[in-house]
Amino acid sequence: MKQEEIDAWRQQALADGRLLIGGQWRAAEGARRLPVVSPIDGKTLCQIASASASDVDAAVRAARAAYERGSWSRLAPAERKKVLHRIAERIEAHQMELAVLGVRDNGTEIAMAFKAEPGSAAATFRYYAECVDKLMGEIAPTPEGTLGLVHKEPVGVVGAIVPWNFPLMIGAWKIAPALAAGNSVVLKPSEDASLTLLRLAQLCLDAGLPEGVLNVVTGTGAEAGEALARHMDVDILTFTGSGPVGRQLLKASAESNLKRVYLELGGKSPNLVFADAPDLAQAAKVSAMGIFRNSGQVCVAGSRLLVQRAVHDEVLERIQQVAASLRVGDPLDLRTEIGAVSSARQLARNQAMLQRALEEGARLRTGGQVIAPVPGGHYMAPAVLESVTPAMAIARQEVFGPVLAVMPFDDEAEAVRLANGTDYGLAAGVWTGSLSRAHRMVRAIQAGVVHVNTYGGPDITVPLGGVRQSGNGHDKSMHALDKYLNLKTAWIQL
Ligand code: NAD
Repeated sequence: MKQEEIDAWRQQALADGRLLIGGQWRAAEGARRLPVVSPIDGKTLCQIASASASDVDAAVRAARAAYERGSWSRLAPAERKKVLHRIAERIEAHQMELAVLGVRDNGTEIAMAFKAEPGSAAATFRYYAECVDKLMGEIAPTPEGTLGLVHKEPVGVVGAIVPWNFPLMIGAWKIAPALAAGNSVVLKPSEDASLTLLRLAQLCLDAGLPEGVLNVVTGTGAEAGEALARHMDVDILTFTGSGPVGRQLLKASAESNLKRVYLELGGKSPNLVFADAPDLAQAAKVSAMGIFRNSGQVCVAGSRLLVQRAVHDEVLERIQQVAASLRVGDPLDLRTEIGAVSSARQLARNQAMLQRALEEGARLRTGGQVIAPVPGGHYMAPAVLESVTPAMAIARQEVFGPVLAVMPFDDEAEAVRLANGTDYGLAAGVWTGSLSRAHRMVRAIQAGVVHVNTYGGPDITVPLGGVRQSGNGHDKSMHALDKYLNLKTAWIQL
């Protein structure tokens, strides 16, 4: 990756966005728009269209019409597979363009964005391309004289609502399996990061995805998102975002057509360091990045560090050193380790949560201050808090910012109690040299993923999703396909 190439793309002038409905790019009703403000320097990059309920209705109708036409839903699997591979090729061909566009929109450090956004989006399309012609039905073990066939069918129209952190990666986690299963999709990106998904939609058209199969309605959650959630002709909703919005979606489903709702929500993920961890320096370094990368705006961020008392002070000291040494700055500068906080609103929220922790008795070891490596931008120094107790808000509520809460524990039983002591259950980490302890912890901790002697990084082959108030669905892996398929039984008397 070369700095000159990044700098060339950062100069690119951006046109105002439109909605993609039925294969046509069009303005929102009344030509309403929302400004796109870059967190890098607070400047307005362009505008996106702000969809109304009637725009969303048009998108759902286009998706339904495309589904009924069958140009995608009934296309031979081998042909669908080719199109999904071509989409992956186009993402790869535009990898740097997409990465820089996304960073301008949401402030993720470029080295990470390059891999995690277009890099993983391309891998996701390739993975599900390969699944298309391997989706088998079943023959049930029925009594003689009968035949029970189980068909797997697309559900129809999928509504996908995604957040602003890693929009391309998370968008691909939903769009690619939904398309692989033969569905049509109406995508509602976050109003805080829509640009890469709009570009992806054009790449999908260029790759030969039939008109109307993928529709994109940008706009606010309260208007465009709500209209999609309440639409009577959307068959399922697949959502990644916050718990409060997840609750609203369940309510919208209950009050409309009972569409299936899959929720990938937040977390307050525990990262446990035992005294027998093989390499405390490595544990501290990886754990620091496990919370601070992308300014803590990662759903699986290890935001609670639980450390066995015998090594508590040493690990805390090491984490403090790593945190204080991280270079926070312009996310499009290759030397930057931590980029921008995505918006002024998010920065204010981080600061308020930090302030509350201090008022409740936590002590700040390092960081936490608002800084300005680029004038006008939103940046915060990685914060490490000690003397945190389980009752404090900082130990229970998601910040979604660069704030680490450190707590000691004495033994395994206390570690498990603390780890499971929130309403969430998204991710966890365990650092230990004992294979037996590692397996015990994997079973005891309530989470969708438990990392052992590492934090973060699983690829597309394994599922990601939470338990408890972290949600009820899984993205990634073959399991994600189940969300986008209906089972239909044929019962035949022979
Ligand atoms: P958010 O819930 O505020 O917004 C997510 C999406 O929902 C946006 O597109 C928004 O416009 C839309 N929305 C808002 N109100 C709506 C409504 N009433 N009806 C329909 N749609 C509505 O979340 P965010 O701030 O964009 O993202 C951060 C959250 O996402 C954090 O809680 C984070 O942990 C979570 N997250 C989870 C995962 C995961 O895989 N579990 C991954 C990334 C982020």
